[in-house]
Amino acid sequence: MNAPTIESEVRSYSRNWPVVFDQARGSRMITRDGRSFLDFFAGASALNYGHNHPVLKRALLDYLGQDGVVHSLDMLTEAKNAFLAEFAARVLAPRHLDYRVQFPGPTGTNSVEAALKLARKVTGRQTVVAFTGAFHGMSLGSLAVTGNATKRGGAGLPLGHTWRLPYDGFAGGAVNGLTLLDTMLDDSSSGQDLPAAVIVETVQGEGGVNPASAAWLVELAELCARRGILLIVDDIQMGCGRTGPFFSFESAGITPDIVCLSKSISGYGLPMALTLFRPELDVWQPGEHNGTFRGNNAAFVTAAAALKEFWADSTLEKQTEERGALFEERLGDLAERHAGHVVTWRGRGLVWGLEFREPETARRVADEAFARGLLTETSGSRDEVIKLLPPLTTPDDELAEGLDILTDSVAAAVAH
Ligand code: PLP
Repeated sequence: MNAPTIESEVRSYSRNWPVVFDQARGSRMITRDGRSFLDFFAGASALNYGHNHPVLKRALLDYLGQDGVVHSLDMLTEAKNAFLAEFAARVLAPRHLDYRVQFPGPTGTNSVEAALKLARKVTGRQTVVAFTGAFHGMSLGSLAVTGNATKRGGAGLPLGHTWRLPYDGFAGGAVNGLTLLDTMLDDSSSGQDLPAAVIVETVQGEGGVNPASAAWLVELAELCARRGILLIVDDIQMGCGRTGPFFSFESAGITPDIVCLSKSISGYGLPMALTLFRPELDVWQPGEHNGTFRGNNAAFVTAAAALKEFWADSTLEKQTEERGALFEERLGDLAERHAGHVVTWRGRGLVWGLEFREPETARRVADEAFARGLLTETSGSRDEVIKLLPPLTTPDDELAEGLDILTDSVAAAVAH
């Protein structure tokens, strides 16, 4: 089969990477004609442990080989029990986190919808505070708290019940969103009622790799606690070790009321999502929120195997943090060398962004990288940021190889 003939115009990645991928191992994807690409995209952070990790694959094949239940809505299954036991023991207990676990349906946006619904149900309030540059998913509730105009435009109806505020550093830090929020809530004539929740990414991924400072996150958490507003952290892209610790909010020392997880929670690229919340918030009626594919047992099996393999100790976390220093240095060099084109670089752990003055330059860099065998995507409000998301398990030599290709690609793109 050649190029898709019946696939909708809505397709996107296949336009920028017009090859047919056939196999994938670790940090590499191989096309049907044998071209090898280093994958610094990692399924938009759904593949933090790389493609087809052998330990996870073995667990999956063994499970399928014994006719383990694959689909089960939210029935009790061995695979679900095993996942919940691992999650409690390896993720929640060591971090002293007391969360209930909801399986909201298999995608990130399912997790966000559940979080928003629950926050509104618990508080009896409707408005949710969301930030400039935020991305929370494409279904209507998630889209209402998303910032991007093109994505919002696709809704076809008004997206409401959202109070938009500047994210940390928005417009060069000219406006402090948290001061605005606090000050307006102090004044009963401000026109703004107390919101149900605030939803935030600790590092905005689609928004252009914008890390919030720990101080800003702490201030936000304190403000929410003081005002009785629920704090939702959307850790869908930045969770599961992407910034170093399992949860991206750990380094700020905050404890959200509700957490959204998806993408790399299954560890294998299989659809799976969780919504976590404090036990007191568990006011759902049985079946009040559900979804046919919330019991994806194949994903539970690889998720449990991933927790055992990568989260039994702090090795992966430390390694990711150390590698962050390498990226910071290499991107800093690039920014200095091409100061006329690069605005800045930023990131944490193994999520990094290189911001260009012109979106066209970022596009050319991604295209030059593709031509040289490296997959990277652009993000940001103007698509002006090259986003780097290598699998956390990428060997050192492949990380260096990817950064070398990026260096050549920037040189080629600016020489254009
Ligand atoms: N939230 C964040 C922070 C995301 O990055 C994404 C996807 O990129 C989503 C939500 C939506 O997840 P999904 O595409 O699985 O619905």
